[in-house]
Amino acid sequence: METPESTARPIRTAVLLAIGSELTVGETRDTNSGDLARPLSEAGVDVAWISALPDRLGTVTAALRDALAAADVVVTTGGLGPTPDDLTREAIADLCGEVPAVDPELERWLRHLFERRGLAFARTNLKQAWLIPSASAIPNERGTAPGWWVDRPEGRVIVALPGPPSEMRPMWQGWVMPRLRERGLGQDRVTRTYRLAGIGESAVAALLGERLLRTENPVVATYARSDAVDVRISAVAEVGRSAAALVDEAAAVVLTAIGEH
Ligand code: AMP
Ligand code: MG
Repeated sequence: METPESTARPIRTAVLLAIGSELTVGETRDTNSGDLARPLSEAGVDVAWISALPDRLGTVTAALRDALAAADVVVTTGGLGPTPDDLTREAIADLCGEVPAVDPELERWLRHLFERRGLAFARTNLKQAWLIPSASAIPNERGTAPGWWVDRPEGRVIVALPGPPSEMRPMWQGWVMPRLRERGLGQDRVTRTYRLAGIGESAVAALLGERLLRTENPVVATYARSDAVDVRISAVAEVGRSAAALVDEAAAVVLTAIGEH
């Protein structure tokens, strides 16, 4: 069997899944995904999409499968509680074709935590000590639900974090991000913005033309500001072509069209 290190792939694309029926009935707003998307985007990772899902096993498993087909890392938040409606572990185990089992070390930690808090330990809590063979526990210093870091054979990663933002955030910043960085985070991305004066956005768009504005890489986009129009050119490197070279090429075309503004 290959070790995770030998198959590790750089993290260039991510999908974020917020899990919990409180999100899909509109009682709680998904703030976790934005909190994850910002640092990932800043690091040059393309967040392909963000979904909110109910506590329904089939829905979560299917979403995980789609996400893994598209992304190097899939990050879930929520669904790691002890109750039967918290199904994220089951969904990941299903997807991996593995059976969760109580990890003795996590069980010791969990029982100790309950003892320290003076709480009775109900058997249902054992679920929070589950692992599958391809998962490592992500320590949670503020709650009873450890996260899961799951290495998939193709070098992709599933990261499962608890829903409460006060638990999720420090685990993400202190544990997950450093490990994703080790894999190589983001891609060679270059962005350049031209600010135009004295011309409206639709006129700019007409000058640039539909073909240029619909190209996927580099992306050329117009943004109307209160007092100006920005033309933003953004590219990611392709095989044999750097992001800077792609932006330079697009910039030459853009400047020919709108340079006088
Ligand atoms: P869970 O890990 O599913 O037990 O989530 C526990 C609590 O975390 C929920 O009741 C919410 O208050 C909060 N929570 C869960 N998911 C999110 C989210 N995506 N954004 C913000 N808060 C969340
Ligand atoms: Mg939940």
